[in-house]
Amino acid sequence: MTTTEHPKKERTLVIVKPDGIQRSLMGEIIKRYEQAGYKLVATKLVLPTAEQAKDHYMVGGEEWLESVGVKASAAYEKKGMKSPFMTPRENGLAILETNAKYLSSGPVLAMVWQGAHVVEVIRKLTGGTEPRSSEAGSIRGDFVHDSYMISDTDNRSIRNLIHASGSAADAEKEIRVWFHEHEMIDYRLINEAILYDVNLDGILD
Ligand code: GDP
Ligand code: MG
Repeated sequence: MTTTEHPKKERTLVIVKPDGIQRSLMGEIIKRYEQAGYKLVATKLVLPTAEQAKDHYMVGGEEWLESVGVKASAAYEKKGMKSPFMTPRENGLAILETNAKYLSSGPVLAMVWQGAHVVEVIRKLTGGTEPRSSEAGSIRGDFVHDSYMISDTDNRSIRNLIHASGSAADAEKEIRVWFHEHEMIDYRLINEAILYDVNLDGILD
């Protein structure tokens, strides 16, 4: 979003991951975002390559590798274990590999949603990264229960159904990994008049 645009133009990238498709949760997930008032502006079913999946995670660059590695290494220590990785970056690289394997294991549904505070609110509706501790009422909290404990034991990525961008800046970069600008549809949704118009006129006859 550029600074000249209205906040209602904010966009986020959501991906229903392969487990979400296999659990038949596409409709439920779309419903949650739709009923919160958001507008779907692009979507497609994609079979990602491992390369595309890596490009997706690497839009956060070295900073993401480092921070995800620091977080995961700290989790080993919290469990009273020593991280098997020499550096947080190495841990980050291992997570990148398992994440890419997971995301490219079957078809995914890529979507761009638009509306005010869409990044923040869609993450709230989606729930925290680890389903075991995701809030009840969130999508992850309601439909899945995977944990870092199990996924780390089995050396696989945590199965949390969905990816949702972490910031508006990340969203714009991630959208470019999955969509061309011409695939985004600019259209008016009647709901938006009720959500955003300054005056609620035209309701009464
Ligand atoms: P998200 O935005 O909520 O999906 O979380 P992040 O952007 O922090 O991480 C992206 C993905 O990396 C997550 O969906 C997990 O698959 C993985 N990941 C993140 N943090 C950890 C962690 O502490 N340990 C492990 N094993 N994987 C992690
Ligand atoms: Mg993220």
